[in-house]
Amino acid sequence: MQYVEVAVSVPVGLNQTFHYRVPANLSGQVSRFSRVEVPFAGRLVQGFVLGFSDPPNLKMIKDVKRVVEKQAYLNEELFQLAQWMVQRYLCSIGDALQTIAGSPAGAARVKERVIVAIDGIDGDDKLTGLVRAPKQRRALEVALASPGLKKSELAELAEVSTPVIDALLAKGLLQEVESYKKIMPDPPPRQESLQLTPEQLTVVNQLVNAINSPNPSAWLLHGVTGSGKTEVYLRAIEHTLNLGRQAIVLVPEISLTPQMVERFRSRFGDAVALLHSALSNGEKYAEKDRIRTGQAMVVLGARSAIFAPTPKLGLIIIDEEHESSYKQDESPKYHAREVALQRAALNQGVVLLGSATPAIESYCRARPGGPYGLLTMTQRIDQRPLPRVQIVDMRQELAGGNTGIFSLALQRALAQRLARQEKSILFLNRRGFASIVVCRQCGQVMKCPHCDISLTLHHDGILRCHYCGHRTANPRVCPSCGGKAIRSFGVGTQRVEEEVRRLFPDCQVLRMDADTTSRKGSHQKLLDEFSRGGGQILIGTQMIAKGLDIPQVTLVGVISADVTLHMPDFRSAERTFQLLTQVAGRAGRGEKSGEVIIQTYDPEHFSILTARNHDFLSFYHKEMTHRKALKYPPFSHLIKILFSGLNEADVIAAAEWWQDKLTAIKHECGGQEIEILGPAPAGIPKIKDRWRWQLVIKGPDSREIRNVARIALAQAGIRFKQVAVSIDVDPVSL
Ligand code: ADP
Ligand code: ZN
Repeated sequence: MQYVEVAVSVPVGLNQTFHYRVPANLSGQVSRFSRVEVPFAGRLVQGFVLGFSDPPNLKMIKDVKRVVEKQAYLNEELFQLAQWMVQRYLCSIGDALQTIAGSPAGAARVKERVIVAIDGIDGDDKLTGLVRAPKQRRALEVALASPGLKKSELAELAEVSTPVIDALLAKGLLQEVESYKKIMPDPPPRQESLQLTPEQLTVVNQLVNAINSPNPSAWLLHGVTGSGKTEVYLRAIEHTLNLGRQAIVLVPEISLTPQMVERFRSRFGDAVALLHSALSNGEKYAEKDRIRTGQAMVVLGARSAIFAPTPKLGLIIIDEEHESSYKQDESPKYHAREVALQRAALNQGVVLLGSATPAIESYCRARPGGPYGLLTMTQRIDQRPLPRVQIVDMRQELAGGNTGIFSLALQRALAQRLARQEKSILFLNRRGFASIVVCRQCGQVMKCPHCDISLTLHHDGILRCHYCGHRTANPRVCPSCGGKAIRSFGVGTQRVEEEVRRLFPDCQVLRMDADTTSRKGSHQKLLDEFSRGGGQILIGTQMIAKGLDIPQVTLVGVISADVTLHMPDFRSAERTFQLLTQVAGRAGRGEKSGEVIIQTYDPEHFSILTARNHDFLSFYHKEMTHRKALKYPPFSHLIKILFSGLNEADVIAAAEWWQDKLTAIKHECGGQEIEILGPAPAGIPKIKDRWRWQLVIKGPDSREIRNVARIALAQAGIRFKQVAVSIDVDPVSL
């Protein structure tokens, strides 16, 4: 009999594994890192085979039910990484392996049926002899020119209906064949490297030395927006490939960075593999195959691409390293930056973090004596000036009688751009924020009954919850005081669009938010229309703050800087500074200089003033003073423990039990400086009918507070069946 040790992907004890018998019909199909399905606590769960060994107890042994994948995308290095994640994020080894390996590919290697013309029919004479009907002729010509299209694509391109194609298939002139689906179109024509500026050259040289060195290292590239960080990345990768090693490049969200993807593909062609959430499992499988075999040497993707199964990893680049999307919000709540540092250590590789607005913690680590080397680029390419930033005090606008969304300064600036045929971007903090509905009489804000967050008013007069989708009509009278002074407060992207159309009836406005970009490819389409088409003003949310490089944009207007500023979180000033700097960085990237207008009710706030001067260092020092005074990271470490369940009393009871335990363990371990904060309702006290309470452990030493949490976790075991406990080490927000 054969027995295997399996790490099940459920939250069990951290390093707990279970034994199963391999039934005769599966023998030979199972090996280390096979993904299997096994019975566990009355249901079937997935897990990973770690090896063959005899079980400590034969009595309870059960059979492996099914082999899901003979070999998951794991290897010895990734296994070591999983063991590190267990200690770092307090998750089970099975959960760590599941996160690394991703979802199973299933049987699906994606094939599709495509159309090709039969051999030997090109040439005008031959075609004329074969088909008379002009539509058929056109379809045949298109099929000859672009073989391998799907039937519908061919019909569309040839501007005929599908029966025309069917007729040609029936005649035997076209054939339908099975082919592997192409994930990406052919790469754009190869673009040679740019001549480096002196600043770029210095940075690239340092990186080349680091890549040549046998020791792992980490670098923070602090380069102002438009300083040419991407070219630095490309050069570092080129050097890595020359040494026969692979590179992983992370971007915050790949659908938002089509320009970046194109630049990579025009340099490295098909050696680039893309990993992102829009790929089907089968497509991911195909890309991971190319990575595992070394056909793909450069992996470009969002957060989870950090786990790409590269056999010879040499370099990891994280662009916009300050972005919170690098933190996974489900368990295990890993941060891609921390995982990158660990993978680089396991591979003697190099980590390069890039940003114009580094995270406070990253910049702190890059100070003299810290673990990162600091690389800086202070100049924009071609000495283009950074845009001039003007702050408008909206309180004064109001006092002056302007109750509209746009200050007079912003109106004037927009009119000027339209007259000069230049482009403008209007930035709004988040979809719908603004359309919160408030009773002006009693101050009641309309909230979702399931999630306890503000409902937002949409164009159709319906109030919607952005967490659970709850919908309700906008009430006429206040449900709380019965008053009739119910008003929507602030503005959403739609309101801004209406206002622009009212002020400038003839201009071409485009709006980019979650509503207008939900369809695949619509994001790219809108951008193309704005950058190459006639679009004059682009209105957008967060998704336009990053990475856009459109030379004709000379004006960026920030409708309100206050939203991020007043978020109840210790990182709100940092978020505000980052966001304003990033948005401002979209202006003046071409030959003409740019201008930025920031509207706010809080014009003296230091994160706004330092953003105006493009002064990261001043911001950093001020913010560090605050953090130090309040003992927030990087002057402390935090673990957030979230309790959630349908019954609030159960949730509170579990949180209180944990609070007692943590306090006792803390005293036993002698961790006198550790603080246990809470229990308190979470920032969003209820989501989808589940109540949420939280505890925060705060202490000077990360290892120490993790240890306290780990002991409590082991003691809690399965004590609270109705309450889910989720541990967040180094949370990005409280
Ligand atoms: P960042 O990521 O630092 O904001 P980018 O990498 O997008 O900046 O570069 C800004 C612009 O400068 C891009 O259009 C890029 O093609 C151009 N650029 C970068 N390096 C050079 C160079 N060495 N010579 C000429 N143009 C460059
Ligand atoms: Zn009211």
